[in-house]
Amino acid sequence: MPLFSYPLPLHTGLFPASWATGCASWRAELDALRSACKQSIPVDIREFPAPGNSPEGEALFTQCAWLGPADAAAVVVLIAGTHGVEGYAGSGVQCDLWRLLAAGQLALPSGVALLAVNGLNPWGYAWNRRCDGEGIDVNRNFVDFDQPLPANRGYDELREAFFLDDPAESSRRLKAFRDRYGQTAYEIAVSGGQFSDPLGPFYGGTGKSHSRRVVETLMADYALAQRRLAVIDVHTGLGPYGHGEIICDHPAGSPGAKAAKHWYGPSCTLPEQGESSSVPKLGLLDYAWHRIMGADSCFVTLEFGTLGTDNLFSVLLEENRAWAGRGKSAMSEQQRLRLAGCMAAHFFPADALWRETVLFRSRQVITQAFNALGEV
Ligand SMILES: [Zn+2]
Repeated sequence: MPLFSYPLPLHTGLFPASWATGCASWRAELDALRSACKQSIPVDIREFPAPGNSPEGEALFTQCAWLGPADAAAVVVLIAGTHGVEGYAGSGVQCDLWRLLAAGQLALPSGVALLAVNGLNPWGYAWNRRCDGEGIDVNRNFVDFDQPLPANRGYDELREAFFLDDPAESSRRLKAFRDRYGQTAYEIAVSGGQFSDPLGPFYGGTGKSHSRRVVETLMADYALAQRRLAVIDVHTGLGPYGHGEIICDHPAGSPGAKAAKHWYGPSCTLPEQGESSSVPKLGLLDYAWHRIMGADSCFVTLEFGTLGTDNLFSVLLEENRAWAGRGKSAMSEQQRLRLAGCMAAHFFPADALWRETVLFRSRQVITQAFNALGEV
């Protein structure tokens, strides 16, 4: 069965230039979809105020939309901006989807609803950062804070190297760690998540973030534990340039992993089995969804590669060092803007072909999810 008809225009003009314009066009495209469908697709829109402001002083919020019947037995959940700055791509994917649905080039299967979350971490999105305003990596925040927090000994060993003022010495120490323990151990040390250092990168926090509260509210309000779910969380910045990898962090052999492999095919990878550009991580958003999912459901990360892991780590570590060392109040606006530009260059390349690939691949994966949930 063809997934969708070709050729279709790729709406790259819908990728936003900022968090605020991303919110405005997301809302405008959704309103256009609503009028095009003349109420045939019920749409419920909500906004969740978030702490802090954008650099321009705007109040921040997370946008959510439920499309389709309130009593749908199955729901495709599409998430953008878990990692702030990665929301540029994720917002564009959702706006493109609103256009496709409005034009009748893609349709929700019968009995399937769509829940879209735009700017899950709006502060990071607005400031071109990956963490939220409290320095929390939202995608390491989903741990049980009533239990002792997990350790990352590799991070603790490298912590000093991350904050050295001498970049050559920092690189030398990181390389020594990698040579000694291997690439995977190195990536887990840097990016696997840590709870010991609030100023460090990939910090999971000491309590629930705004983003986690939004997710938990949506799960409760829409009774998501009682429905079949296909969750797609759009990320950027890891893996080969332009490649859209479907990463499944369900345990190997679990019902979730079986569903993901069945729905998405051989391109679905499991970090636990070393198949992915991602390594196993602590506190992922995935785990909250795994806990509420029945057998025929799964959560996947749709990760779009850009400039490689070495560039990812060097951009993030430099940016993190600047924010941790001086704080915004003492960082010049010029320096902040330069770092924000480096973040955008890594997480949202100004390359029309990369952006086309993001839309094209997202259409494939979203349609696979529609088809999977539409089969009864
Ligand atoms: Zn990400």
